[in-house]
Amino acid sequence: MARVLSGIQPTGDIHLGNYLGAVRGWVDDQHAQDSFISVVDLHALTVPRDPAELRARTLETTLLLVAAGLDPEVCTLFVQSHVHEHPELSWILESVASMGELRRMTQFKDKSKDGEESARVALFTYPVLQAADILLYDADRVPVGDDQRQHLELCRDIALRFNHRYGDTFVVPDVTHPGVGARIMDLQRPTAKMSKSAESPQGTVLVLDDPAVIERKFKRAVTDAGTEVCFDPDKKPGVANLLQILAAATGRRPDDVAEGYDRYGSLKTDTAEAVIELLRPVREGYAELASDPEAVRATLGRGAAKAGAVAAGTLARAREAIGLLSRG
Ligand code: ATP
Ligand code: MG
Repeated sequence: MARVLSGIQPTGDIHLGNYLGAVRGWVDDQHAQDSFISVVDLHALTVPRDPAELRARTLETTLLLVAAGLDPEVCTLFVQSHVHEHPELSWILESVASMGELRRMTQFKDKSKDGEESARVALFTYPVLQAADILLYDADRVPVGDDQRQHLELCRDIALRFNHRYGDTFVVPDVTHPGVGARIMDLQRPTAKMSKSAESPQGTVLVLDDPAVIERKFKRAVTDAGTEVCFDPDKKPGVANLLQILAAATGRRPDDVAEGYDRYGSLKTDTAEAVIELLRPVREGYAELASDPEAVRATLGRGAAKAGAVAAGTLARAREAIGLLSRG
């Protein structure tokens, strides 16, 4: 069975982009593939964060993944910081990654808006930790949204370089993105991707939003000049985003969906309705799980043990390959 690895940061409320670009695919994959899904809390430390809130969000994010359909009895669902091999391997990989290649990462540029001087070192090096997250599990495939393309390329480069220098140690993973929904844009700024940390409350559709709120956000979505409905992400990013969302929610292609519309208004209404129906079971499932969060939390120990067993084997290989003395 092929091994799949992916993760999500506990950096805020999970939104429609996370769901369509990543989470939904993980749920579909879990029965046919050996899936390892991680709530990557160490990555959340790359920007300032309130400790109590981080802890609460880590549990909330886990609950939401279960509500979305990830079954901790079927896949290996775990919290990154529960498996100490992640930062350990990351340090080893930092010794094969270069400053130049990390400096090219656009997410560092985007997220260090207040300037490089005050940015945390961890924000600069976290793509290496991400490579460790993946390589520890001998993952064959990493299903992620389109924004992760550059980081995954770095992960593959690091794995290839390590294998070349120190002998075959890591599986070099393939990267996959959903055919439709790999890059959902902010409803208020359709040239920027929807993000947990973007602070664009009206532009971000949360998986747990009430139906009335979802309806309002779509009604107010920024569209483009003109009135014609066509799928043209460059010229009509707002409309293209709505078409992409409606297509992803209903299992169609954006240009096919466009043919059914001649007005923006009805496109907005139908997209809102499709999204409300798509997310309804997740919202209802979450409400149920949230009444007894300890039940889900109790599964995290098992997840960490399963993940840790695999991770320990890979780390031992990497230690040996790079020349670290075993304890004996
Ligand atoms: P942050 O702003 O804190 O980075 P995020 O919204 O980018 O949060 P992540 O936790 O970084 O979310 O990413 C989790 C998964 O969701 C990744 O696979 C990522 O590619 C995917 N993803 C994130 N945003 C989008 C989006 N707008 N459209 C499609 N997929 C997305
Ligand atoms: Mg992100």
